Amino acid sequence: MEKFLTVCPYCGCGCGLYLHTEGGRITGVSPSRNHPVNTGSLCVKGWNSYEFIQHPDRLKYPMIRERGALRRATWKEALRKVAGELSRIKDSRGPDAIGVLSSAKCTNEENYLMMKFARAAIGTNNIDHCARLCHSSSVGGLSAAFGSGAMTNSITEIKDARVLFVIGSNTTEQHPMIGMHMLDAVDRGASLIVADPRKIPLAGFARIHLRHRCGTDVALLLSIMNVIVAEGLVDVEFVRRRTENFDAFSSLLEEYRPDTGERITGVKADDIKKAARLYASEKRSMFFYSMGITQHVTGVDNVKACADLVMLAGHIGLPMTGLNPLRGQNNVQGACDMGALPDYYSGYQAVKNPASRRKFEKAWRKRLPDRPGLTLMEMLHDGVRAMFVMGENPALSDPDTTHVRERLERLDFLAVQDIFLTETSEYADVVLPAASFAEKDGTFTNTERRVQLIRKAVEPPQEARPDWQIICNLSGLMGAKMHYRGTYEIMEEIALLTPHYGGTLHHRLDEGFGLQWPCPDISHTGTPYLHRKKFARGLGSFTSVGYMPPAELPDGDFPFLLTTGRISFQYHTGTMTRRTHIIEREEPVCLMEINPEDAKRLGIAERQGVRVKSRRGEITVTAAITERTPEGTVFLPFHYREAAANILTNPALDPAAKIPEFKVCAVAIEKAG
Ligand code: SF4
Repeated sequence: MEKFLTVCPYCGCGCGLYLHTEGGRITGVSPSRNHPVNTGSLCVKGWNSYEFIQHPDRLKYPMIRERGALRRATWKEALRKVAGELSRIKDSRGPDAIGVLSSAKCTNEENYLMMKFARAAIGTNNIDHCARLCHSSSVGGLSAAFGSGAMTNSITEIKDARVLFVIGSNTTEQHPMIGMHMLDAVDRGASLIVADPRKIPLAGFARIHLRHRCGTDVALLLSIMNVIVAEGLVDVEFVRRRTENFDAFSSLLEEYRPDTGERITGVKADDIKKAARLYASEKRSMFFYSMGITQHVTGVDNVKACADLVMLAGHIGLPMTGLNPLRGQNNVQGACDMGALPDYYSGYQAVKNPASRRKFEKAWRKRLPDRPGLTLMEMLHDGVRAMFVMGENPALSDPDTTHVRERLERLDFLAVQDIFLTETSEYADVVLPAASFAEKDGTFTNTERRVQLIRKAVEPPQEARPDWQIICNLSGLMGAKMHYRGTYEIMEEIALLTPHYGGTLHHRLDEGFGLQWPCPDISHTGTPYLHRKKFARGLGSFTSVGYMPPAELPDGDFPFLLTTGRISFQYHTGTMTRRTHIIEREEPVCLMEINPEDAKRLGIAERQGVRVKSRRGEITVTAAITERTPEGTVFLPFHYREAAANILTNPALDPAAKIPEFKVCAVAIEKAG
């Protein structure tokens, strides 16, 4: 038996685990005892992170669609077909007629190559990935406030904090190991403030649970800040030395007294005051948020309000403080860092900046496009004629999926590269079989900016290949040769061109549990917390704007508010968890949480089938009656293809980040059958 130290392929915690192999097969998983994030533990997904790798459904050969059906093809045939079709569309309609989706499940090296392929081989900045759907508001909001859009502090600091303020994050279910550190802190006497419309498990441990109405986060945060100013709890010295725009911001705050906050959010003014006092008065206060904040048409405004609260209290730039967006996918932080975004190269170097563009043109020896490209939603909603999709499943994960599927169907050409046939590959002209995380080398970057090695434990099935090799093959056929002897050479190129990753070379990462960026050179030991002496943009900027309601609220025809999210036993579009029997056994059907009062009024019984309708479509699910969800609101997970919640969700976008409003839409509910 052999053991290979690698990183869990599920959430952004980035837990260290060993894959156990025997005779070229994976036989099990065990946690790393010394890993700083998981310290000998794993959640249920981590423990079961190997079964899908050897599932019989794995893609084993390239396939080409002919007369409506996919048939087995050789690599040569399939790659020529993809390169030929993309070149034809590029020549006839221009490079911007093509869109590329990269993947938060793939390695940094693969995301770097994918953005190089889009820009240098195709000649377009139309590259994006699922961060658009989860944390593009963080990148926009935190860049405006601080100049950098990542978690400021480290997971290991949590246990020593005195106050934890968690808003819009069901942490124990979505980031279980971070949740474990939070509960550890509570055990050691820390006070927990949870702001969430649902009674999430973490709320059971909270000193204050602020149960605000979905979509009223800005009003809640501004009224908390109003109290901090009114009661003299501002860190005056920090605001004076480290920030700007305070005067304009403080006049906005005057409009959000606690009673105004209560009227908009439904949270008692007294609780708003208590939360403000508790958070601001303690020195070691950490602030966390996730997609409950970001997935709104006001996602960027929500993030800016979080940033302002943290600066007002002076809780940033020190250990056990900070503003900490919890990233969802295992490598969504890395995919952003690597420039799988329409407006940035790796390291958030803007494509609009001539100096950045010249730097990459010189390194890649290609002329590069200077206009930012289309975002994921713009590509899918009319922007392009052909797409190359690596490890993403927009046919299930994007809002208003009926419309998304119509668009995928109308494309002139679609290539999908993945480890399974997904809902998106049902529309593909060519499918390319990729290697899973256990079958290749490279790096993932977790939510606390920790760049870690993943190590190959077994061979890919049959003819499947690592994504980075497929991209190199394809790029060569399209006139932009890429030659790397291994992923370590790709990281060497990343390090040369990406200041934050200057010292994250593989041989250094091999020595411990990775390095946290910024790590600018090979003598640097990484950065556990950001903005110590100054913000990335110099002074922190107060940028809050006033409260705006969600794009679609309940009315006479659609009287319930639907909010969507994840559950602990499934993951994203279920591609991996639904092929893992222990996990699938726990939550095999899509349950809709509904409050007992609402269920009584509609005559709905526990586990009864119900139809849920929105202006965009209809699905049938099973009712789970629970006080966890407030009256007038229902909750649906989005993992189930047979009850795809995103048929219902609203594609309305935040105007700056172009993130859709997954967290609020209006629905009608009736008994099925
Ligand atoms: Fe994997 Fe996240 Fe669970 Fe850790 S907490 S084992 S990274 S799913």
